[in-house]
Amino acid sequence: MIKVLIAEDNAVNRELLRELLETHGYAVDEACDGQAALEMVEHMRPDILLLDIGMPILDGFAVVRRIRENPSFAALPVLAVTAYAMQGDREKILNSGFDGYLSKPVNWAVLEEEMNRLLKEREDRNAAPKQSNESHAARRAQAAGSGN
Ligand code: MN
Repeated sequence: MIKVLIAEDNAVNRELLRELLETHGYAVDEACDGQAALEMVEHMRPDILLLDIGMPILDGFAVVRRIRENPSFAALPVLAVTAYAMQGDREKILNSGFDGYLSKPVNWAVLEEEMNRLLKEREDRNAAPKQSNESHAARRAQAAGSGN
């Protein structure tokens, strides 16, 4: 079963995401602030992290930065789930270590497609670490270029 960690400070949003994911057969755990999210990443070893941006203690940007700094978790797929919807925010998010971006309210079809894409990319990375690291870096560089 695929393990998803939801890091989100709003209880209603957490519950909605949990129900969506559990209904579709995913195992779900929850963190309600950024510090708890980092601790749960370490202890629960999720397959994918759905990370809110606006959270107490550590926001989503700080959480994803710390995850990318840690070699054990650098390859963890991290999907931003946020109400920030401006074009500039989207680019900032994609240039900050997130692998993808979803705006609230979350649409299941879009969420599932993004999760499948990220999990497939992780599989490909595990199968061919060198090549996929390059493609990962290339994608980041491309995202950075499109920010101008
Ligand atoms: Mn929030």
